Amino acid sequence: TYILAFESSCDETSVAVIENGTKILSNIVATQIASHQRFGGVVPEVASRHHIEQITKCTREALTEAGVTYEQLAGVAVTYGPGLVGSLLIGVTAAKIIAWAHHLPLIPVNHMAGHIYAARYVGEFTYPMMALLVSGGHTELVYMKAEHEYEIIGETRDDAVGEAYDKIGRVLGINYPAGKTVDEWAHQGQDTFKFPRAMVQEDNLDFSFSGLKSAFINTVHNAHQRGQALNKNDLAASFQAAVVDILGEKTMRALDQYPVKQLVLAGGVAANSGVRSRLEKDLAKFHPEVKLLLAPLKLCGDNAAMIGAAGYVNYQHGDRAGWDLNAVPGLSFDRTTDLNQ
Ligand code: ATP
Ligand code: MG
Ligand code: FE
Repeated sequence: TYILAFESSCDETSVAVIENGTKILSNIVATQIASHQRFGGVVPEVASRHHIEQITKCTREALTEAGVTYEQLAGVAVTYGPGLVGSLLIGVTAAKIIAWAHHLPLIPVNHMAGHIYAARYVGEFTYPMMALLVSGGHTELVYMKAEHEYEIIGETRDDAVGEAYDKIGRVLGINYPAGKTVDEWAHQGQDTFKFPRAMVQEDNLDFSFSGLKSAFINTVHNAHQRGQALNKNDLAASFQAAVVDILGEKTMRALDQYPVKQLVLAGGVAANSGVRSRLEKDLAKFHPEVKLLLAPLKLCGDNAAMIGAAGYVNYQHGDRAGWDLNAVPGLSFDRTTDLNQ
């Protein structure tokens, strides 16, 4: 079974061809990062225009590289939310046109479910399962009692962790997106600043990163005003140590409350080496019965291969969208079936 998958929720235009939900035949990713860097973040209008320019070329490349024709496809999967409305609409429209022209089912996919399914390429999912989703716009603990069932059991009350990385990275003079560079600097420094670990002692599964972000920015500004230079590697290491503590503590708390067979780490920030190794260590120590599935580094960021894997599962469950499928910028797992609002 071949699925053609589209992803255009933010600043990556991506088209993939997936076989049986588990094999990547092609995964074309056109990133727009260079166009957004001088603005320090994603500019929605610029993003939409790039998607329009790239999507036809990416589609052709994906099919050619896979060696699959339209006639061989079983369905077209597409991210319809969450994300930027103008960006989402380009992928949704492209997917609709192809599905309509070739009489194929249109399969709606939640972008965050897609992130979880990046980990499907490292192993089979067994349920019940937990996912720690850490990305540019989301920080969530998602409990999956069974396939195709998503329940948010904890989430950030303010900033997403990737967003916090990008903001403190900017203060350090790092180009958007800053996460990867902060991660690299962190390895050359020490946790000397001891930034606050908000909410870790609280008996809930929610997160907060705005206090940590503010503490970081204030520390740098105060030092700057005193004409004092701070060690950038130590700043990065201290920030990352706080993030890793918060994510590790809350995830273990979630596993105490929800017995599961597997833990998936996914989303752009899942590429973070500190977070990856912390979860490995914490699981070995506190929950050795839980198997860790780390999304492959190359599939942590936005891509259509993950949408194809999640799309295949939706396809098997009979999820079909009509030609009136709309982009849903604020789509959440609680509303996955609410296709057209
Ligand atoms: P969402 O998936 O929530 O809609 P998004 O798609 O914009 O948001 P992703 O593409 O999944 O987010 O992830 C991008 C984020 O990942 C950026 O904030 C980036 O800084 C961060 N990131 C990437 N690599 C690392 C790393 N090694 N360490 C920390 N953060 C990282
Ligand atoms: Mg991105
Ligand atoms: Fe994403």
